[in-house]
Amino acid sequence: MDRVDPYRSSESYYECQSCGSRVRSGEYVGACPDCDGRVRDIAVSRE
Ligand SMILES: [Zn+2]
Repeated sequence: MDRVDPYRSSESYYECQSCGSRVRSGEYVGACPDCDGRVRDIAVSRE
C-alpha cells in the first residue's frame, strides 16, 4: 500500500490538454497517464 499524505505541499496538479484528465503528483509529469497527451501544471486555486 502506498502511503499518501494529502497535505504534502510539494505536490502539484497537472491537467491533460487532450483528455482533460487531472493528475496530482509530487514529481514532474511529462505526459498524461491515460492518453499520453501533453499535460500542463495548473496552480491550485486560491480561496
Ligand atoms: Zn490525457
